Amino acid sequence: MTNEFHYETDVVVIGAGNAAMCAAISARENGARTIVLEKAPENEKGGNTTYTHGSIRFAYNNNEEIKQIIPDLDEEDFKITDFGSYSEEQYYDDLCRMTNYHTDPTLASILTENSFETMKWLTDHNVRFIPIYGRQAFKVDGIFKFWGGMVLESVGGGPGLVDALHKEAKKMGISIFYETMAIELIHTDEGIVGVVIKENGKTKRIKTKSVVLASGGFHANVEMRTRYLGPNWDLVHTRGSKFNTGEGIQMALNIGALPAGNWSQAHSVTGDRYLPDFEEGFQKLSYPFGVIVNRDGKRFLDEGADFRNYTYASYGKKILEQPNQFAWQIFDAKVAPFLREEYKGRKVTKVKADSLEQLADKMGEIDKGTFLSEIKAYNEAVDESVPFNPNIKDGRKTKGLTVPKSNWANKIDTAPFEAYAVTCGITFTYGGLKINENAEVQNIVYKNINGLFAAGEVVGGLFYKNYPGGAGLMAGSVFGKIAGENAAKYAMQLIKS
Ligand SMILES: Cc1cc2nc3c(=O)[nH]c(=O)nc-3n(C[C@H](O)[C@H](O)[C@H](O)COP(=O)(O)OP(=O)(O)OC[C@H]3O[C@@H](n4cnc5c(N)ncnc54)[C@H](O)[C@@H]3O)c2cc1C
Repeated sequence: MTNEFHYETDVVVIGAGNAAMCAAISARENGARTIVLEKAPENEKGGNTTYTHGSIRFAYNNNEEIKQIIPDLDEEDFKITDFGSYSEEQYYDDLCRMTNYHTDPTLASILTENSFETMKWLTDHNVRFIPIYGRQAFKVDGIFKFWGGMVLESVGGGPGLVDALHKEAKKMGISIFYETMAIELIHTDEGIVGVVIKENGKTKRIKTKSVVLASGGFHANVEMRTRYLGPNWDLVHTRGSKFNTGEGIQMALNIGALPAGNWSQAHSVTGDRYLPDFEEGFQKLSYPFGVIVNRDGKRFLDEGADFRNYTYASYGKKILEQPNQFAWQIFDAKVAPFLREEYKGRKVTKVKADSLEQLADKMGEIDKGTFLSEIKAYNEAVDESVPFNPNIKDGRKTKGLTVPKSNWANKIDTAPFEAYAVTCGITFTYGGLKINENAEVQNIVYKNINGLFAAGEVVGGLFYKNYPGGAGLMAGSVFGKIAGENAAKYAMQLIKS
């Protein structure tokens, strides 16, 4: 390869998911010529963002503020919906609580304080949202009451979000190169000057004044997973995009970027034991309404510790720690109506029986005797004096068990009984690059790498051990917008000087 440049621009954005497209739109609206590099072919564009439901967590104070983001929702729907409120403080507290106070306070403040304004910015850029009626609210006494701080999703889910952002980017004159992978950052002592790419297999160079890295984490790279997350992480089910293999992070580390965040843990959920990697429909998240037992027939976690949004991202890891890295979710007929959509369909590993004994026989890989005595002990411990209410943390708990169930505890006593075989699936990784409040990537002596910005999963420091659902997309949008704006300003300054 010669040292000639094949393309020239002001800002290169690496990746074409939510964080990248927010960065590209933001850079362009701040006056920069912008090129987006997408490693995937066009029909697989958008990284993990495409695989989401588009559920997004932001702070708001009342129904009036929700109306600013979904002006099309009709008044009749508003009358039967209680969105409640979710303050910036609650959002910040959730991040602190769920990460055991490891979250970077600067990044967490920026995320929570900019979330509402960024939602409005997204709607100004033609991204549309709707209430998550099906999954985040149950109808009680004619009213949908939302719980867990997450109330809206993008129209068309993840694919809808990606399409809306790509359509907007094209309208704004942003060039998107598909099947084009960034492989190296070109830099001098002054900062970034270009990117080496593989465009349809051909090595080329782009001259640029700044770069936004938004190429996701390394969840789809089995070698990096095992290296950083540890034993057995090579065995987990891989969710989401097969293109998030970590080279964006590696490229930055190669030029002296500072790693940050929780490199030894990841967002991991419980889902079907036998579904092939990358296939949709993996997760099985109605466990707060049942119990989970391992191969030895023992419960090992509090299924009702908190709303599902606040436990689901860490329970995959707990299943990975069980014998043979799997478990069974058990439900009875009383709670079957509460099971989410993903429990239906032919690709679900499920057995059903009219007695617990028969159920254990059909499950096969279970210590039957221990399982039956475990369920008996659990049933005897359920405090039925507190009413069951799926919309709130109802405090209907077990008494006296070593492994408690703190909410939504119902006896497992009504046939037919169902058991679902589940394992651990990795969704995305938490470790990444250190950025400052302007989304500038920091080097190992805590100085800016001039012209290098980052947003989304590629950034470390926000999420540790656990994660509040919907914060991934919001973080990508908030920091993508900031990164794009600052990358454009940096480029404009170079042009002027
Ligand atoms: C099944 C699933 C469901 C989820 N549900 C939700 C949800 O409802 N709400 C929520 O907030 N979060 C959810 N998440 C997490 C969410 O997807 C991520 O937090 C978010 O989408 C990350 O956005 P991103 O832009 O950083 O990365 P991505 O969307 O993953 O984009 C990364 C991009 O970089 C590209 N790329 C990678 N390497 C290179 C390279 N070398 N050169 C060029 N391009 C490259 C990829 O192809 C991709 O386009 C879910 C994740 C999964 C997998």
